[in-house]
Amino acid sequence: MRVSVREGDTLAYYGQLFDVPLRLILDSNRERSTEQVQVKEKVSIPGYLKQDYTLKVGETFWSVATDRNLPLDALFLLNPGLDPVELSPGEIIYIPLRVTKRIISVDEHYDYKTMMSDLNRLQVLYPFLRQESIGRSVLRKSIPEIKVGQGQQKVHFNGAFHAREWITTPLLMTFINDYCLSLTTRRNIRGINLAYFYENRELSIVPMVNPDGVDLAIHGAKIAGDYKGLVLKLNEGSEDFSKWKANIRGVDLNNQFPAKWEIEQARKPKEPASEDYPGERPLSEPESKAIANLTNEGDFSRVFALHTQGREIYWGFEGSEPQEAATLAAECERVSGYKAIQNLDSYAGYKDWFIQEWRRPGLTIECGEGEHPLPTDQFPRIYQETLGQLLAGLYV
Ligand SMILES: [Zn+2]
Repeated sequence: MRVSVREGDTLAYYGQLFDVPLRLILDSNRERSTEQVQVKEKVSIPGYLKQDYTLKVGETFWSVATDRNLPLDALFLLNPGLDPVELSPGEIIYIPLRVTKRIISVDEHYDYKTMMSDLNRLQVLYPFLRQESIGRSVLRKSIPEIKVGQGQQKVHFNGAFHAREWITTPLLMTFINDYCLSLTTRRNIRGINLAYFYENRELSIVPMVNPDGVDLAIHGAKIAGDYKGLVLKLNEGSEDFSKWKANIRGVDLNNQFPAKWEIEQARKPKEPASEDYPGERPLSEPESKAIANLTNEGDFSRVFALHTQGREIYWGFEGSEPQEAATLAAECERVSGYKAIQNLDSYAGYKDWFIQEWRRPGLTIECGEGEHPLPTDQFPRIYQETLGQLLAGLYV
């Protein structure tokens, strides 16, 4: 919601008036260089919508404010120029509506367009979120990164490296939404005050590493553009791409990282395929390159890569993982009921490379259980299992 500044107003006063932390108001108006505001300037108040309201017989500003537990001045602010003694029934006024529920929902399929639309809606309601593009997919889709909070410690989560595992995107999107709700309504999540983490962690989230693959798995070859012929050939002529794992040109993005890549190259497919092909060389694909560049620049203290399925947590690589990785994995195990597994006969994955290069905790979390793609009716349960682990990524 945007309001127009009046004589004498300050951002701190808006924080009081709407019961929103000043930090969030400052970060929602980041283009400003100072806390000073000018009369008639437009200021964003996060977590609120401006709603029309038609006055009924006998209603006044005062009764409308009292009925909604709003300060009277909030109505004056939203309705400049309206004289409260001149109001008559049928007149339309603006009232501020605090958003107390999630705005995103997970329906049958969660494709790239849905994610982008949800990100835009989140950004409008919570302008303290920062959104950047980390690069473009083979089909030139921009791959967004969302940042929440600030602080020396930087934490990174990502999802949907693998096309058919697209349910991991709404897991992260829902987490972003819940995080914002918790901040603006001052409600704890599982007893945890997220405001502390907003001040002390910079959380980076890339909800969909492989947008072309996700759209292929959901919509089929018609979205494949110049790669339509290739994907149909690799899929043996079948129009059902729901089990596709790779990117649009048949490279497995989580088999692309320079961490014993040669082992996978030697034993995995030698040509593009719907899964497992490690590519001609490490980081040959724009999507894996984009996430590697982000990680090289990000100085992340830990990373979580969400995959499906199996209810397992992988946290080791060749003994390079630090002791705190064991602590973090044990906490993730405790809050989810998933099984933490240190070593695996698997190389060239994102978390392998992260552990090898930085010797910091890198976890692959295999969310949920069942056949790919996991059905969305399991979403609420998988979200609850994942939520505790994402929180652990902030507090451990
Ligand atoms: Zn996966």
